[in-house]
Amino acid sequence: MSRDYEICTGLYKVADVLTLDIMRLCKDSIDPLMDCPISLQCPHCNVISLLTVISVPNYDLVMRFHPTTVGIVYRCNSCGEPVFLKFSLTYLSGGGIELSKEYQIVEFPKENFEFKYLPEAVRHDFEEALDCYSIGAYNGFAALCRRTIQSTASCLGVKGTDKVKKQVVELKEIAEMEEDDYAILNQIILDGHDGAHPHLPSITVERAKILLELMKDIMYELFVRKGKIEDAKKLRQEQIDKK
Ligand SMILES: [Zn+2]
Repeated sequence: MSRDYEICTGLYKVADVLTLDIMRLCKDSIDPLMDCPISLQCPHCNVISLLTVISVPNYDLVMRFHPTTVGIVYRCNSCGEPVFLKFSLTYLSGGGIELSKEYQIVEFPKENFEFKYLPEAVRHDFEEALDCYSIGAYNGFAALCRRTIQSTASCLGVKGTDKVKKQVVELKEIAEMEEDDYAILNQIILDGHDGAHPHLPSITVERAKILLELMKDIMYELFVRKGKIEDAKKLRQEQIDKK
């Protein structure tokens, strides 16, 4: 499943779910829900997994309070952890309750990275940036990317800033980035003033995805690759010392 989310009241809604039959909330049976399989990338184990219905809203209480949305708890078939989804409701004239075909995800899978190779200050900022990305807070993500680059420059000095510039130009060519995207990313990464500065450009889902790849690439080139080579050297030295 691709992760093409549409922005929906601060949360995100998956538009490309498996085609669901009509989902109904019934008084005496959960079969209409069991018959509508849902699969998504589990926020706990990151596997794209089928979900099984575990906990459903009480029909009588829903009829009594008429909420516009309800939550259903599913179980991830891969790891067994609970996954909470929200659906909007339509009250049918005949007395039934129909659930929307689209649903809102409440918890998102976290973006992973080899954080252990990053210097403490950079790691802290980049981890927070990825947390923002995972919940779809893209402007916060952009601001924290800017902060991560500032921490990187503090750690590596002028040499660090030059390397970042080089990486951005390289990635622009490799990814055949549009000029508009490049200008905005450049503004966020290199020309911005402060991480929380209001003049940072607003960022869309598509640009956030490009920014994510760019940041991972920069962090990898500046810290991870070097850290891995050092690990390998250390391991070799340990083996030599043992002999
Ligand atoms: Zn899972």
